[in-house]
Amino acid sequence: MSLIVQKFGGSSVADAARVMNVARIVTDTYKAGNDVVVVVSAQGDTTDDLIAKAQEINANPAKREMDQLLAAGEQISISVLAMAIEKLGFPVISLLGWQAGFNTNSVYGAARIKNIKTNRLQAEIAKHNIVVVAGFQGINRYDDLTTLGRGGSDTSAVAIAASLHADKCQIFTDVEGVYTADPRKIPSARKLEEITYDEMLELATLGAQVLNNRSVEMAKKYSVELEVLSSLNPIPGTIVKEKVKMEKMLIRGVTKDKDVAVVSVIGLDDNPGIAFKIFSKLAQKNINVDVILQSVGRDGTKDLTFSVSQENGPVAVELLKEMSISEGTKISCVTDVAKVSIVGAGMESHPGTASKMFEALYAQNINIQMISTSEIKISVIIAEDEADRAVSAVHNAFLPNA
Ligand code: ASP
Ligand code: MG
Repeated sequence: MSLIVQKFGGSSVADAARVMNVARIVTDTYKAGNDVVVVVSAQGDTTDDLIAKAQEINANPAKREMDQLLAAGEQISISVLAMAIEKLGFPVISLLGWQAGFNTNSVYGAARIKNIKTNRLQAEIAKHNIVVVAGFQGINRYDDLTTLGRGGSDTSAVAIAASLHADKCQIFTDVEGVYTADPRKIPSARKLEEITYDEMLELATLGAQVLNNRSVEMAKKYSVELEVLSSLNPIPGTIVKEKVKMEKMLIRGVTKDKDVAVVSVIGLDDNPGIAFKIFSKLAQKNINVDVILQSVGRDGTKDLTFSVSQENGPVAVELLKEMSISEGTKISCVTDVAKVSIVGAGMESHPGTASKMFEALYAQNINIQMISTSEIKISVIIAEDEADRAVSAVHNAFLPNA
């Protein structure tokens, strides 16, 4: 007998018919002789709707109250799914995050799981109940509800799979797996059979919507093998694990991220310590910096350009202005930019990968503003309105229509 964790995203439980569909998938798994723990997200756009509801009343509500509100979304899904499973005649119990033992820190809206006290989960499994757990939420040491950040239910599922040493962790969604690009935009995008944690982490971080990046980080840390698959079409999905079969595929995916702002600081004094001062200030304020570009000093000054999330662009500009780093520096921020990236573990040992990407962009007359690379990815910052064209050109260069 195996223990299987199955997670269903918001679109998979969007309405009564979809909830019944999930109940059938879960009970089929149970009928086959497995213990099953199910993690669900809020139905459809519930979380967005709850956020809008808050905004109607208070543009800047306390984060604690936001978490009280948002946790309600998943409370609805677990109870209705439990009712659906009950209707099919199977023993089931739903648990909120705190009932399932999710202890988190106190960063409301972006809480981290500290541990899961699994006694309740284990007791329910021992009673042969199907256990339905609310994703995305936990409780802090003040007994207040917390949420894990948008898309956090994936992390809840992986955390349960890790804590219970589950045999399988399946992430059900509305696509059939992980694709080489967004299949709704790039018709020639293909589904991957397997992908490594590292590649998946890059894809998730760089804008692929299919898995939350923190969940992949955790899966890697605790060696939880994931399967990403469709709740609507019962065919094998994509396996995410440490090592995969070598394939001739150099590139595993092309992504686009529009949530980018580029901040420039022009005319800094060309002295040691400036970069340290700027980036430590941003780090103190929890601003994540991505691509960094520093010009060579000339006439005693240098320029520094870096990218952050769109939301953090204006915040970074304010911080830099407050710092009054050097006399006469000009600070600016643009948001009509996007980041297009290619990811693949194979590129490490293949010279010419970067030039092939740049050639594809050049052929489309797309100007590259910034470049950053790692062993398994290359990202460029370009104008936002050219991003879709860029993804398509780059995908076609590396993964031409078969
Ligand atoms: N319901 C939450 C959200 O929409 C968590 C999740 O879906 O994973 O972000
Ligand atoms: Mg943008």
